[in-house]
Amino acid sequence: MPRQVMPSNPSPLPGQECLPMAPALRTAINTAQADRLRRTLLSICDASVEASRIARKLLLVPENNTRVGQRNDPGRVICDEQEGCSEGEEHSDHHSNHPATTNVQKAPKRLRPRFATCINCDQEFDVTDNGKEACRWHDGEREPDFDGDFWADHDEDCHGRISDLEDEFPEGFKYDCCGKAGDAEGCNIGPHEEEVSNKRVRY
Ligand SMILES: [Zn+2]
Ligand SMILES: [Zn+2]
Repeated sequence: MPRQVMPSNPSPLPGQECLPMAPALRTAINTAQADRLRRTLLSICDASVEASRIARKLLLVPENNTRVGQRNDPGRVICDEQEGCSEGEEHSDHHSNHPATTNVQKAPKRLRPRFATCINCDQEFDVTDNGKEACRWHDGEREPDFDGDFWADHDEDCHGRISDLEDEFPEGFKYDCCGKAGDAEGCNIGPHEEEVSNKRVRY
C-alpha cells in the first residue's frame, strides 16, 4: 500500500504567531472519529478564548438568519460580535445595516447552531442557505420490487435475505409512496427540516 502523502507545511516566517501544523497532527485529525474530534474541540474551546471565538464564528449564526429561500445577501456580513459593535464606535461598512443612532442599548443577538441535520433526507444543511427546493425526499418505505425480474434468480439461502440488501441494490426496490425505484430522486420537494425540542420546525 503506498504511503500516504501529506501536504508539506510552509516554513514559519520570523515572528509568525501561528505554528505550522505538524504532519502527525494533521493525520490525527483526519483519522480520528467524530466523537473524539467533538471532545477535542470542546477541550480546545474551554482552554482558549480565541479558539472559542473562532468556533463561534464558524458554528453559530443569529437566530433570525434562517429564513427559507433567502440566501445570505453577499453584500451583508453576519456580525455576531457584540464587542465589535459597542456604542459610539466607528462602524465599518458591513455594519451599515445597524440603526443610525448608536446610543441605543442593543439586546444581545440570540445565536443558534448554523448546521443541522434534516429529518427528511438525513443530510447536514446550512440553516442560512436552506432554499424552498433544497431537499428532496420520500415519505414512504422501500419494498422489494417483485414485478420486474431483478430478483428472479435470487436465492435467499445462497445470496442473502432480500430485505437486507436494500442499500446494496436499491434498484431492486421501490418506494411505496410513489412507486419509483429505490434509487430514484425523492418525490417530495421542500426546504430541509430540523427537529427541535421534539417538534418539527420548517424554515
Ligand atoms: Zn416517493
Ligand atoms: Zn433534507
